[in-house]
Amino acid sequence: MAGIGKFFGGIALAAASLAAACADTSGDPTGSDDTAKVERLATLSPATHGKFLHISDIHFDPFHNDKHLVVQDLPVDQWEQHFDGSASPSSGRHNDSNFALMKSALTEAAKTPGYDFVLYTGDYLSHDFREHAEAKRWVRHPVSKGVKDPIAFAAKTVEFVNLMIEQAFPGKPIVSALGNNDAGCGDYNLRVGGEFLKDIGPEMPTLPQPAKKDFVNSGFYTIDHPTVAGTEFLVLGTFWSHAYPDIGRGCGMPSDNPGDAQKTWLSNQLSTGSGNAILLMHIPPGIDGYGGTAQWQSGFQTAFEAILSKSKRPVLGAFAGHTHMNEIRVFSNSSGPYLSVRVAPSVTTYNGNAPSFTVADYDTATGAMTDYQVYTLRYDSKSGTDAWQAEAKYSASYGAPDFSPAEVQKIANNLQLTNDSTGMRTIYRTQYSGKGQEGARCNWQNAVCAVSFTDPVKFGQCVSRIEKVHPVPGNC
Ligand SMILES: [Zn+2]
Repeated sequence: MAGIGKFFGGIALAAASLAAACADTSGDPTGSDDTAKVERLATLSPATHGKFLHISDIHFDPFHNDKHLVVQDLPVDQWEQHFDGSASPSSGRHNDSNFALMKSALTEAAKTPGYDFVLYTGDYLSHDFREHAEAKRWVRHPVSKGVKDPIAFAAKTVEFVNLMIEQAFPGKPIVSALGNNDAGCGDYNLRVGGEFLKDIGPEMPTLPQPAKKDFVNSGFYTIDHPTVAGTEFLVLGTFWSHAYPDIGRGCGMPSDNPGDAQKTWLSNQLSTGSGNAILLMHIPPGIDGYGGTAQWQSGFQTAFEAILSKSKRPVLGAFAGHTHMNEIRVFSNSSGPYLSVRVAPSVTTYNGNAPSFTVADYDTATGAMTDYQVYTLRYDSKSGTDAWQAEAKYSASYGAPDFSPAEVQKIANNLQLTNDSTGMRTIYRTQYSGKGQEGARCNWQNAVCAVSFTDPVKFGQCVSRIEKVHPVPGNC
């Protein structure tokens, strides 16, 4: 099953529209077998596949060494020589990526040939960037040396990370979203039309002029798929987060509400636009699989689900980051599952995970992702040191022929069994934090229920049902 899925899986979505016209399986003895259907359709529509790279949450930390702050007065194309590429890659919880880790991840990712484009799902900047830049004491960090112009330095640091990505993948289009940390005024405080967006807007790679204007003035924009005609990426800002705006840092203003404008925009895009759409964002909608609370403000979550449910355009999936873990999501309504979401693990080790990036396959007829494989930097017993290693592919891990909502829903159902009779939960937990061992020891019940439940009550019921059989260990 997994082998067939690997080979034919990518055509499933492209073939779906042919199914009605060409594949009446009602009288077919194999008609109840999804794999057989997919295989037969493959002969009707030999779709081709492309490859893309999905990176998320580098959280580059220029404050790692005060000596590096000499770069603040230099143009970004002169920055690289001032960072130490031969240092050990940063590691450990609450440490963001030093230059060596960012460089290692990009260099390793570039060893896979044939990418058509790169997706970046946000959080270029290290945590508490503004507090570092202003030499303020903040919860988790020693005080670093401040910089002269924190907003300009934040913008330059985003530009530098983009430059590093561009240099690692020359000529490849980059489609990117900003994360909650990517703001001049501090975490969860992106100001639309503000100085930070005005600084980085003109420098964003691959953005055509109209999208640049939208990006600066609203924080969200559309961009054509780099290789698939008629498919568009809709790139969202992080204004729907539960924590936006974070007035606790003395920076956010409660009156800031660009989320309403984004809601109207998304609704218009999906009710009046044409062609396929793919969503790109930093914070995934739904429940946080770590803490078990909502990721978005509840009004926006409800509106998002309503807008997506009645979309006139096919939405071929969504890509996100933010949690730093290797995750998936599926959204359903009364008609069944309608949106699959890929949540990519991070380069930074800040949440205790191993550094990761994702190599993905997609259907070049539609743009839909069909399979993916995560690479993580983790202990290698052969060499006795940390080395980049590949996880099993999604298709092989879960026996899934594609990443359609229906397939992800099947996986969710298996992950949420109380007895893990299919073994999928062990695989999910082993890949979750990229360390080659079962992660999420204290919260895996949340992590697996968050895959498919967005309603807090139903999510709670899922967690309780599993916890009756598998109680959370006492020392959590
Ligand atoms: Zn992050």
